[in-house]
Amino acid sequence: MSNVLVLVDHTAGTVRKTTAELLTIARRLGEPVAVFIGEGVQEALPALGQYGATKVIALSTQSNPELTQYLVAPKAEALQQVAAKVEPSAILISSNAEGKEIAARLAVKLEAGLITDAVDVTAADGGPVTTQSVFAGNYTVQAKVTHGTPIITVKPNAATPEAAETSPEVEEFDVTISDAAKTARITDSKPREATGRPELTEAAIIVSGGRGTGGDFGPVEAFADSLGAAVGASRAAVDSGWYPHAYQVGQTGKTVSPQLYVAAGISGAIQHRAGMQTSKTIVAVNKDPEAPIFELVDFGVVGDLHKVLPTATEEVTKR
Ligand code: FAD
Repeated sequence: MSNVLVLVDHTAGTVRKTTAELLTIARRLGEPVAVFIGEGVQEALPALGQYGATKVIALSTQSNPELTQYLVAPKAEALQQVAAKVEPSAILISSNAEGKEIAARLAVKLEAGLITDAVDVTAADGGPVTTQSVFAGNYTVQAKVTHGTPIITVKPNAATPEAAETSPEVEEFDVTISDAAKTARITDSKPREATGRPELTEAAIIVSGGRGTGGDFGPVEAFADSLGAAVGASRAAVDSGWYPHAYQVGQTGKTVSPQLYVAAGISGAIQHRAGMQTSKTIVAVNKDPEAPIFELVDFGVVGDLHKVLPTATEEVTKR
């Protein structure tokens, strides 16, 4: 069976759910080999083994400090060298800002085809076939790399992680980073502000606020906290400066697919739907009974979110 490289997405060894999704997809295509860059490989090992990594290639930052001192270019070079050794049949990377930049640079280096933002990947004769959702989710296209090792960035929630216990061996790997890759240096890095809430793309429940909040996300956050949910926002709310862009859901924000999505004061524009319409259960709170979001929902509440959400929060907190 051919090897499929999966670049591990983690923070100090805590593996993100997207990596479990990538490993699940990789198993459809061949033998998943995880590439771990940074510190914390031992902490990451159980999660990588749980989802079927047959081997972990570890590029520790002790022997390769360039991998965290500089921006993404060294990581692309490192992956190029791992690919030269492993000769994988495909390389899977998470579709986030860093992952997509690494993938693009790697594709140039390997002179290989690149497909970004896949929402599904299946095995086929002659290489993996990907599905992408385009034009705000109105069309799906299927694509295949026809030149070189397919490099595919996969969106969060493209697969349900399926466990397949393995005991992967760890192989330390040293890379040589060129001076050209060291032209941009990280001088300071701050961990993202800890909100205590789950990561937006990994949360089982999301409560999102839109222009209807009038800039007051207090009721949205309180309801989210009562449910242990993440907070999301529409672009109108983000563009108004009411909530950071990292929390925007939609075509130009994050794609989410939680068990429960609550849209409060959000009209349901096509670009917003593109990021949340695959949620399992959708609930909307909107004071306009004609709001387009009601075409999409499983449950709708017509009312002022500033009254409905505090009442709902109180009820949930009582239980
Ligand atoms: P509005 O459309 O203004 O809706 C506000 C809603 O709140 C209304 O339905 C109103 O009835 C309701 N409301 C008002 N007051 C209350 C209250 N007190 N209680 C309850 N309900 C109330 N949008 C995204 O969200 N994500 C994207 O990624 C995105 N990408 C885009 C990309 C492009 C290229 C373009 C052109 C647009 C994009 N948009 C995106 C913008 C999108 O078209 C909409 O403008 C945006 O989603 C509207 O946000 P909203 O629903 O919060 O605001």
